Amino acid sequence: MSLPPPPLNQAPSPLRRPEAWWRRALWSLPLVLSLIFVAGVLAWARSNEIEERELQRQTLISDALSTEAQLRAKLKEESEHLRDLAEALQNEPATVESLARHPEMNAGLRRLWLSVTWLDKHNRVLAQVPDPHEAKVEGDDEGLSLHLSAPVGAHAAGGTLVLRYAPALLLKRGVPWWLARKYDVQMVDSADQVIASITETPIRAAQGEQPSYRVNFVGPFRTSPLTELPDTAEAALSDAALELTLRDPQPTTIKPLAMILIAGFLPLIAVASWLLRRQLRQTSRAETAWREQAAWRQAMEDSALVGLRARDGQGRLLYVNRTFCEMVGLSAEELVGLAPPMPYWPPEAIDEVMQRNRRNLAGHAPREGYEARWHHRDGRVLDVMVFESPLVDARGVQIGWMGSIIDISAHKRLEERERRRIDTLAHHARLTMLGEVASTLAHELNQPLTAIASYNAGIINSLAKLGVDDAVVLGALQRLGAQAAQAGRVVQRIREFLTRREPQHEACSLNQIISDALALLRKEQQRAQIELRLDLAPHLPPLLADAVLVEQVVINLVRNAGDSLQARAHDRRIQVRSRLVSRAESGLADSAPASGPDFLRVDVIDNGPGLQGLKAEALCAPFFSTKGDGMGMGLAICRSIIEAHHGVLDAQEAPEGGAMFSFTLPLRPLLASGSQDPNP
Ligand code: ADP
Repeated sequence: MSLPPPPLNQAPSPLRRPEAWWRRALWSLPLVLSLIFVAGVLAWARSNEIEERELQRQTLISDALSTEAQLRAKLKEESEHLRDLAEALQNEPATVESLARHPEMNAGLRRLWLSVTWLDKHNRVLAQVPDPHEAKVEGDDEGLSLHLSAPVGAHAAGGTLVLRYAPALLLKRGVPWWLARKYDVQMVDSADQVIASITETPIRAAQGEQPSYRVNFVGPFRTSPLTELPDTAEAALSDAALELTLRDPQPTTIKPLAMILIAGFLPLIAVASWLLRRQLRQTSRAETAWREQAAWRQAMEDSALVGLRARDGQGRLLYVNRTFCEMVGLSAEELVGLAPPMPYWPPEAIDEVMQRNRRNLAGHAPREGYEARWHHRDGRVLDVMVFESPLVDARGVQIGWMGSIIDISAHKRLEERERRRIDTLAHHARLTMLGEVASTLAHELNQPLTAIASYNAGIINSLAKLGVDDAVVLGALQRLGAQAAQAGRVVQRIREFLTRREPQHEACSLNQIISDALALLRKEQQRAQIELRLDLAPHLPPLLADAVLVEQVVINLVRNAGDSLQARAHDRRIQVRSRLVSRAESGLADSAPASGPDFLRVDVIDNGPGLQGLKAEALCAPFFSTKGDGMGMGLAICRSIIEAHHGVLDAQEAPEGGAMFSFTLPLRPLLASGSQDPNP
């Protein structure tokens, strides 16, 4: 069931609480967490990278230092070999042969020596191996060459041996292969010029930004030309340095794939957050709508005057609304979950109610509802009307029964009161009729009884004159007279007793009297399918009359009209009219002059067969009736009542066919004399 939205001018429902800020911000939590996570990953990667670089640098330093030490050791070794050669040559002639013949010389050339030159004291070349004019040895074209020297003989008496070697070759031979693979090893001078390199295309640290390390090379080598040979062969080339550059450094930045993943991850999370936000909003909207609907339904159910109860297939109470609880005086907590017999069932009729309950649960409850009598918790009895309908769940499956209960106790009480009133009226009518019958009878019997008494007295007198003194006859005649007198008195007394009720005049509303009378007849008229039309003049002045008696007249006239309509197959109509009329219209054949509208007139018009030419006088005669079961006293009584109020009852043919019975009542009833005002 869809409920209408609440009116716009209504104060905001308490259910529409403003959403808490944290609830609204909830959707962004995954995004924030993802950002924190990504920042954490980046920071971790950065610190990792710094650590790795530091490790790399330390390895580089230690590799550089150890390489430098190795090269220095190698040079020292070569220097010692040269010195051994110089020592061996001190007693030899300074010739090319003696130099070339020496095994140390040949071994040196196989290692890294380019040439050995024997100089005399004045630095003049005595011999040189290999011959500079012959083919160059391996490595002689490897760029710059350096020198080592060693004195021949004591105080260089035999001259000096100068060894020329290629630093590039030194690097090639002296640096282990794994190191050469890892680093680009170079020797540089103070002007940053590359003296020698392990590779042909060296990577310069400055160009490539690769990590590199330079260590001062303190080795027994010389770059100076032969003329500048110092005194000591151990002089160091202080400004040379060994530089190690990492060939294949670790990537300095975070790996591109990781970057791509992170870059992709963030928009994905953003999209996911957006979707989440949308979902949250939808959910929140749906929840609000649901709450509103539930509140509406609750409010409607609670404000309904009809009691509602839902039961499962076994009759167990699943739900009750507030009205139901108020009807039986039990709370919802006490009621829900209860199975038959229910505490509000009348204990004296449990078996009967149980049987009815079984019928209802089997689906045979009358569609037009059924009446039941329940007990309130405080013992009060209530009459209810119950309408059962199937209770269906969201899938359309019947899960029980839904009952709508209307408290008809007040209605029942009203009905009862009305019934009693009708009974009273009927009783009253019967009494009145009896009075009228008695009165008529008394009137009719009075004369014969008086005649009997008179004749009896006459006979007694005549017998006395005739001298008849038969005690038996006279006694019988006297007793006859006494009995006749007694009969007359009895009839009179009965009449007096029954008609003792004098009209009790009081101010009343004629329209109200008519409405009350018709209310009593409504059911009857409905059953007879008679259309009742009321044409009451508004604001009529109050009438001084006996309302009960006048009501009886109206009832009688309308009932008679209804009886006459039985002759019609359909279109049965009765019109009841009230109005204020003048004396001339009142029907009172009075000699007094008409003096304004002082009379109230009521017409009861039907579209029945009419009066068949009969006059009011005949119709109102006691015991005149054309009905099979009629007593013929109704109109007679009506006329008596109206006349007792100094009014007139009349009957005539209605203008549109049918009969019109009317009565007129003076607003101020005349006293018995007809001239005095009862309310001076
Ligand atoms: P009852 O109703 O017992 O016959 P009433 O005195 O009330 O006695 O009526 C007397 C007669 O008057 C009825 O039998 C009927 O013939 C006639 N009468 C009364 N009202 C009407 C009417 N509205 N139309 C035709 N005839 C009527």
